[in-house]
Amino acid sequence: MTTLLSPKSTTSGLDAVRIEIARACRDAGRDPSEVELVAVSKTFPVEAIELVIAAGQRVFGENRVQEAKSKWPPLLAKHPGLTLHLIGPLQSNKAKEAVALFDAIHAVDRPSLCEALAKEIAKQGRAPTLFVEINTGAEPQKAGVLPQDADGFLTACRATYGLNVAGLMCIPPADEAPGPHFALTAKIAKRNGLKLLSMGMSADFAVAISLGATHIRVGSAIFGGRH
Ligand SMILES: *Cc1c(COP(=O)(O)O)cnc(C)c1O
Repeated sequence: MTTLLSPKSTTSGLDAVRIEIARACRDAGRDPSEVELVAVSKTFPVEAIELVIAAGQRVFGENRVQEAKSKWPPLLAKHPGLTLHLIGPLQSNKAKEAVALFDAIHAVDRPSLCEALAKEIAKQGRAPTLFVEINTGAEPQKAGVLPQDADGFLTACRATYGLNVAGLMCIPPADEAPGPHFALTAKIAKRNGLKLLSMGMSADFAVAISLGATHIRVGSAIFGGRH
């Protein structure tokens, strides 16, 4: 977790990402306002995050509830208008903390989690934006619903748990071209009437934008390499 802080390199990373988003949107004939940049600050300290906030970024992502709880409450209190997204897997026993802290949850993928989230959403009167993760590569080690189970799972989210799912999320296999995985995710979203698509990371967000991403999750291209 020791990271050399360089204000200049952090904000130039953010600038480069903004320029690339604008270019990808122009190429795809999309309005840049349709694409939300989620700056993924996992493993980076509050000092690095402060630099990115100072450069105007307002939407951030973390992949662990515990880490987010240790870093974000003071930042959220100090900077009104920030939104925080949970992009990593969530255990049902952390649903309470997740609903309390996050404005969006990107990796809903099983009935037990749906049940825990529905309960906490009702109890806390908070409604984070929910994404269902699709395991487009059917990778056994990866979280997410298999593509062939997606329609049934999405129906159950609404009908059984009363959850209002807004979109889908995917993480393509590391060793494959991401395009077909993004396209499959977009197709499943479309036939289920879902508007939001969380897809694209530092290495492939331009491809994701060309295939309809509404939320890109970008960490290392902004903050630098993680150790
Ligand atoms: C870490 C992470 C990212 C960001 O990855 P980079 O390659 O650093 O941009 C995006 N999504 C998820 C789910 C992650 O865990």
